[in-house]
Amino acid sequence: MNDRVARLLNHRKGRLAKGDPVVAPIVTSATFHLPDVQGAAHVYGRNGSPTWEELEAQLAILEDAECVTFPSGMAAISAALFATLGAGARLVIPSDGYYVTRILSSGFLASFGVEVVEMPTAAMETADFTGATVVYLETPSNPGLDVIDLAATSARARAAGALVIVDNTTMTPLLQRPLDLGADLVVAADTKAPSGHSDVLMGHVAGRDAVLMARVRDWRRMAGVVPGGFEAWLVHRGLETLEVRLERMCASAAVIAARLADHPAVGALRYPGLAGDPSHRAVASGQMANGGFLIGFTLADAGRAEAFLARCFCIAQSTSFGGTHSAGERRARWGDAVPEGFIRLSVGLEPVETLWRAIAEALPEG
Ligand SMILES: *Cc1c(COP(=O)(O)O)cnc(C)c1O
Repeated sequence: MNDRVARLLNHRKGRLAKGDPVVAPIVTSATFHLPDVQGAAHVYGRNGSPTWEELEAQLAILEDAECVTFPSGMAAISAALFATLGAGARLVIPSDGYYVTRILSSGFLASFGVEVVEMPTAAMETADFTGATVVYLETPSNPGLDVIDLAATSARARAAGALVIVDNTTMTPLLQRPLDLGADLVVAADTKAPSGHSDVLMGHVAGRDAVLMARVRDWRRMAGVVPGGFEAWLVHRGLETLEVRLERMCASAAVIAARLADHPAVGALRYPGLAGDPSHRAVASGQMANGGFLIGFTLADAGRAEAFLARCFCIAQSTSFGGTHSAGERRARWGDAVPEGFIRLSVGLEPVETLWRAIAEALPEG
């Protein structure tokens, strides 16, 4: 991993000519000088842009695969699904994963003749995938933080003739690499920890099959879902500090999770980094480099959960996660199948003892 981080930080060096800017330039041009069409590096802003390519070069180092960027995580997920599914296909997706993927599937793909089968993440490990075209996995699942054995589940899905797509948003390629474990495509929201500052949306698809990736790239060009130059540049800058941010966030999350687990007001705590957690096996096996920076826990009811979030000065009351500041929300407000008092906490960069004091002071007595 350290090798990948060092290569990411220096990825432009080998291509620089004397006098070139060391930092990647922001290119916003929609058009390119094109006296004739043969051999031009860039032809039109919907086909490709130098700033996306800088970002894709970084991501390719992290994923060890070809990467295509999109203007949001959902744009990347849509591209992967539209590139691999058609009428008569069967898509297996988690019923407890990121909810917009489910409503995209039921609300749009189903009307194009895709059969959508939902099942809990925990059931994917033993499910029969016969007849599936695409098996879509999310581990740890957002927000429940359940895990699946990626190598074993991918192998079973592929043996059944299915393509495997993994949403790797909660881990990032520094903490988990599904392509190494048998996935065909990885999709991710770089809106979260990779950009890391809650100020830009971005996503990418990664894969090692050139034919599949050409279809994903074609989808971007034809559907016209293209990132902007400024946005790509922001994510490029964010990625340079991803490793140090993750180090702080995951170490703090381990401390906060252990203390929350001991608090009398807190129930059903989930953190894959804790030895007793049902998802710890994915950390123990090395599938996940550590427990990540997301914690799930439940307070007695919706009122107490909202009061805690409102009282804690260190927790932004917002959806999304992976930013510099800690963030938390009551997921039942979006209709996730979780208890009313369930909170997903994204641990940020605040010094851990200050963060813990703020959390402890805001928690109900028990
Ligand atoms: C946020 C998120 C997405 C969607 O990303 P956007 O950039 O908001 O479109 C997809 N999957 C997971 C697991 C997410 O957390």
